[in-house]
Amino acid sequence: MSILSIENIYKNYGSVQALKGVSFNVPKGSVFGILGPNGSGKTTMLGIIMDILKPTSGTYKLLGEVPSEIHRRQIGTFLETPNFYHYLSAERNLHIAAAIKGRGSEDIPRVLEMVNLTHRKKSRFSTFSLGMKQRLAIASCLLGNPSVLILDEPTNGLDPVGIAEIRALIKKLQLEGTTIIMASHLLDEVEKVCTHVAILKKGELVATGGVNEILANEDIVEIGAANLSALQLSVEQFSGYTSMKLEDNLIQLFYPIGTINLEGINRHFFNEGIVLNHLQLKRKSLESKFMELTN
Ligand code: ATP
Repeated sequence: MSILSIENIYKNYGSVQALKGVSFNVPKGSVFGILGPNGSGKTTMLGIIMDILKPTSGTYKLLGEVPSEIHRRQIGTFLETPNFYHYLSAERNLHIAAAIKGRGSEDIPRVLEMVNLTHRKKSRFSTFSLGMKQRLAIASCLLGNPSVLILDEPTNGLDPVGIAEIRALIKKLQLEGTTIIMASHLLDEVEKVCTHVAILKKGELVATGGVNEILANEDIVEIGAANLSALQLSVEQFSGYTSMKLEDNLIQLFYPIGTINLEGINRHFFNEGIVLNHLQLKRKSLESKFMELTN
């Protein structure tokens, strides 16, 4: 079931067309990555979902309905580190955030625990590392237990430990049933934490679906023989691969990752009377798949 459906959204800033008819569905309980190079429209898309920006045209629906104020309270948003008071403790800052949001304070112990900051709740914000500040910001978004959490580039500027902590937190939130929508320009990040993805390029949606389907890593076997046409005919009788391509007088056979049996392939063509003069296993990187989609 979709928790959020984006329907044909256009957004113009004057003559700049930032989004050009983008539609996608965010499944409930997913970690949904909006991936794209700089300037592709990710932040604009999040701004619209968060109701900070109005689309030029198009709509979005939360749980099948045009969102009302009550619906919107189910969305926790995190755009950048909020202005916490440096001289106040983490806990005190959350009390203030809860009051501003019109939420009760009873949720504070839960959100501190969630982001693993209970042991530092009495520490001043100014003593926190950037990673802890980010986690406190996420804790603030979690007040009131929103069912959807929106994060814009959540690991930006963090060191490897901070990045790992935020990614672990995202996975923990997903396990607890929160749907997370996050923008990222890092393919690696989307691959590591997201279950679903929408890839934007210059304001257009180029692909959307499960990360494994869209960014699937494929294995490729490249084969060649002196008699290329005989080899081509034989390939047509051969099974097990998902697609094929002729490139530079070599045939590339594409396989789901980890399913290739080179010996079996070699034996098959030999039994067909074709001696391969080229047999090479190649791996198509996620990077090249991403470049293929966005270039
Ligand atoms: P980045 O990864 O660099 O943050 P992005 O994918 O989030 O990029 P957006 O920030 O949504 O992309 O920008 C999409 C396009 O809209 C860009 O061409 C950008 O220059 C333009 N744009 C964004 N905000 C404004 C604005 N307030 N006024 C004019 N143009 C804007």
